[in-house]
Amino acid sequence: MRAVVFENYGEFPSLTEVPKPEPGPGEVLLRVAGAGACHSDISVYRLFKEGQPGAQKPPFVLGHENAGWVESVGSGVSDRVQVGGSYMVYGPIGCQHCRKCAAGLETYCENVATMPYLAVGLGRDGGMAEYMTVPERHLIPLGDADPVAAAPLADAGLTPYHAIRAALPHLAGGGRTALVIGLGGLGQIGVQILRALSGATVIATDVKERARARAEANGAITVEAGEGQVERVRELTGGRGVDAVFDFVGAGPTVAAAAASVAQGGRVSIVGIGGGSHEFSFFTNPYESYLTNTYWGSVGELWEVVDMYRAGQIRPDVELFSLEDALEAYRRLEAGEIDGRAVVVPNES
Ligand code: NAD
Ligand code: ZN
Repeated sequence: MRAVVFENYGEFPSLTEVPKPEPGPGEVLLRVAGAGACHSDISVYRLFKEGQPGAQKPPFVLGHENAGWVESVGSGVSDRVQVGGSYMVYGPIGCQHCRKCAAGLETYCENVATMPYLAVGLGRDGGMAEYMTVPERHLIPLGDADPVAAAPLADAGLTPYHAIRAALPHLAGGGRTALVIGLGGLGQIGVQILRALSGATVIATDVKERARARAEANGAITVEAGEGQVERVRELTGGRGVDAVFDFVGAGPTVAAAAASVAQGGRVSIVGIGGGSHEFSFFTNPYESYLTNTYWGSVGELWEVVDMYRAGQIRPDVELFSLEDALEAYRRLEAGEIDGRAVVVPNES
């Protein structure tokens, strides 16, 4: 079958022929409906070097945001799994034996150092292919909801959901504000989740005008990124600053803007892996403010994201590519030419 394979550190992936996988015990074979192209994949194949935190050893099939139809099942799979049924895939795969895995938060597996891979599409073969294998416990039923547009929710939905849910105590109450920095795959869904889960005024910022326009359509007030943005955000909050900031870029200038925009007692969540840093000391931050980072989310939270999608509260903005055009999707993502999320569609429904 055809697949998008990350073959060597530092190299752009290739579209190549690989063997069709077979489901092992407790796994299903999924016919892929949609596979989202995440900005993290660019770090995987361009930036990470062997042995570096986050690096996953090639070769493997990319694609950690997937949904599809169960084609067949391996031994021991429960008859609750419906062959032909449509499912969302929870990507992270932990050891299953630690307290974090037991709580469904496999991203924070305590035995990650001894695991052969982090997730489907991150060390283990992912969904940028006609078929993939998935452990049964990682399937969430989609019912009659469209699995193609659902695919980005596996990461671009779940990651903002996890970050926002943790920040909700900061957003509860009248007159609260949230700031979303970076309005790409994650940021656009982040705006929708904030609007659905909190009554806070959502301020959003990006360098791209088109991205800001989309966020406005989703109910955000927008500010152009760059010079003067912190002053503008302060103005919009009556000088007080923002109660919860979500930085979906994580580069030096955005982390600086996030830290400069937060209110006393507010919370900055760094989600983007741009590598920016910020000093945190008595003198450099508003009193009792929080600075945290966050990685992906739990399987239970993905069930909730799917509930929001099925209820129409999240509408991922997708641009579809055939598997033959998957490399073009990555090229355009790197060039900043994708609005919303690029989704590769390897099979017809
Ligand atoms: P994307 O390419 O779809 O979107 C990035 C957006 O940020 C674009 O709209 C771009 O114009 C904007 N941007 C870039 N520089 C900016 C700046 N200086 N100021 C304002 N806006 C700026 O990316 P994505 O797939 O949404 O991923 C976003 C980030 O989150 C990436 O760093 C990715 O690796 C990371 N990520 C982290 C997790 C996690 O679990 N922590 C999960 C998925 C992705
Ligand atoms: Zn574990």
